[in-house]
Amino acid sequence: MRLILLGPPGAGKGTQATRLVEKHGIVQLSTGDMLRAAVAAATPVGLKAKEVMDRGDLVSDEIMVSIISDRIDEPDCANGFILDGFPRTIAQAEALQDLLASKAMKLDTVIELKVDDKILVDRIETRARETGGARADDNAETLKKRLKVYYEQTAPLIDFYSKRDMLQSVDGMASIEEVARQIDAVLLQNAES
Ligand code: AMP
Repeated sequence: MRLILLGPPGAGKGTQATRLVEKHGIVQLSTGDMLRAAVAAATPVGLKAKEVMDRGDLVSDEIMVSIISDRIDEPDCANGFILDGFPRTIAQAEALQDLLASKAMKLDTVIELKVDDKILVDRIETRARETGGARADDNAETLKKRLKVYYEQTAPLIDFYSKRDMLQSVDGMASIEEVARQIDAVLLQNAES
């Protein structure tokens, strides 16, 4: 199974991805986690990405596509994967299509977590408190920028995948359990069709 979880920062992509990993034995590919690991390890990519991430901007498409291309070649991705935080631009989505085609892989579906802006600020503030401020970009000011970037550069993907009949939306405002139930229903329906 190969799927994309799409939604604004704080929509619950990571939480749902973790659950799907356990349930389906597939891997979670969070580009945000990969970049944070690169920053912590001070790799050349990490050194480049840190400032961009701290500002709430996007790391270049070229870097992101190359990271994902290498990652999905790893043996643990053979059984399937969940893309969490990628693609984030139309250019990334187009590159992903070419990439998967070149590897004879197919995307099963794209699941959008629909969430109101207002609740996102609360969620990010809660996450910042719970993780003791572990993420430099989990603060009100950067969040505003991340949301703006989301609506300008990532939200157009909803239309992109919808036009290709690949998009399915769930109510990201519901409880974690209810969102999980809706995602399972989408996946089941997908498997049966
Ligand atoms: P996330 O953990 O998904 O919220 O990502 C944290 C930050 O990493 C983002 O605000 C971006 O600066 C960067 N990032 C993560 N994924 C991508 C991507 N696919 N394209 C560009 N930048 C990304």
